[in-house]
Amino acid sequence: MKIRFLSGKRQGEISHAPYSQETKLMIDAGLIEEIPLPARGSAGWLKARMEQEKSAAPTPAHVSWGIHKGTQDNRITLEGKCSRPNCSIFRFEGKREFLSRHTFQHCCGAYAEAVPLDVIKKYAEAKKSEEVHYTADEAALFRYSSHIGDSNKHREVK
Ligand SMILES: [Zn+2]
Repeated sequence: MKIRFLSGKRQGEISHAPYSQETKLMIDAGLIEEIPLPARGSAGWLKARMEQEKSAAPTPAHVSWGIHKGTQDNRITLEGKCSRPNCSIFRFEGKREFLSRHTFQHCCGAYAEAVPLDVIKKYAEAKKSEEVHYTADEAALFRYSSHIGDSNKHREVK
């Protein structure tokens, strides 16, 4: 809906707001007022309706892909990020052949999408030159899992 600010920094300005509880509360509090649409079929009606449609349309969801190298461990990872705020983040560091099993799962309402083929190719290429440096935490985990105690046997895995 089209609204006018009645107070504050934007007093007098006209903007668009969604039909929501928050907007209704702002109207009830006297902070904004709704500017009604011109009468249906009148000169400004179609223009106002198109403007309203445009403002209500969500920004398109676009995933940008990037290949990163860890600063500490040199690990090559593939990361995907959606253009819409508060959506998912995709992170993968496994074998290239398993990458096609994964999809970018949006939580913004857009459909899930597969990792593009050219991105998979770039990831596979970058992964070839990967030389992982294990972090201190990972090294401690390996030491712990391969530790042989006084019995001279590995811990029994249950
Ligand atoms: Zn998204």
